[in-house]
Amino acid sequence: MILQEFLRDAGERLEKACLHFADSHQHAEQIVLRTLNLSPTELFLKKDQALKSSDLEKLKSVLERRLSGEPLQYILGFEYFYESKFEVGPGCLIPRRETELLVDEVLGFELSRSLKVSELGAGTGNIGISVLLKRQNIEWHAFEINSESAVYTKKNIAVLLPKNSQYFLHGEDFFEGAGRFSPYDVIVSNPPYISFEEYAELSQEVKQEPELALKAGEEGLDVIRKLVSRIPVLLKPGGLFLCEIGASQEEKVKQEFNRGPWDHFEILKDLAGHPRVLKIK
Ligand code: GLN
Repeated sequence: MILQEFLRDAGERLEKACLHFADSHQHAEQIVLRTLNLSPTELFLKKDQALKSSDLEKLKSVLERRLSGEPLQYILGFEYFYESKFEVGPGCLIPRRETELLVDEVLGFELSRSLKVSELGAGTGNIGISVLLKRQNIEWHAFEINSESAVYTKKNIAVLLPKNSQYFLHGEDFFEGAGRFSPYDVIVSNPPYISFEEYAELSQEVKQEPELALKAGEEGLDVIRKLVSRIPVLLKPGGLFLCEIGASQEEKVKQEFNRGPWDHFEILKDLAGHPRVLKIK
């Protein structure tokens, strides 16, 4: 089979399957790029060539699983985030592009000083690992209560970080454990922030990701509220608090947290222009 034909058929079948993505033909390309580990230029140059039978078998099997609603990242076992490739699988939240904003913000904070950072919800380890790969003067304390997820955090630490990196993974609840290493220069989190109502509307694919990493009470603000309430106890004066929020939560977050014992309150937008990060200093 010619690669172009596979792309066309796959695109059409994905379109009919009503899965959750904007463009099914582009998604078919993603399947090919990622499964065969090709660059976009290589894909372009090979479009008119026949597929090797082993490659065709691989593609067919990925496509079938994808059509049944399994996320591509779980099928292939990885996702790109910031500048690295993270191992990911069932039980672990798939890193999202918009979360990269948190990495940039930590990287830009007080460059000349060493920092002690705390994170609620490590997931793949994407945020801390991306930061530590760029900046060594940081002690990173990540809290992850989901043991299925921690398997991936540990693997990614071992594969991606140099041996002497100061990434400490704690298996206890952030609200119980974070006090042991406080005060911090930075507290950062991509916490669960989906409301009950929004959760019910999510696609079957997203629902395959751990509920614990997504759902946060009636308004989706349960974890954020608790985190903000700990700022005065856990963060050093002049420290930085960063937390991802849902694009629709901007007004509520402003109303609730704008006034507090801090000088700076800001909501940062992501590359798509959506309100995405609550920043308090
Ligand atoms: N830090 C991980 C991420 O941003 C996991 C976050 C979570 O479990 N909510 O992808």
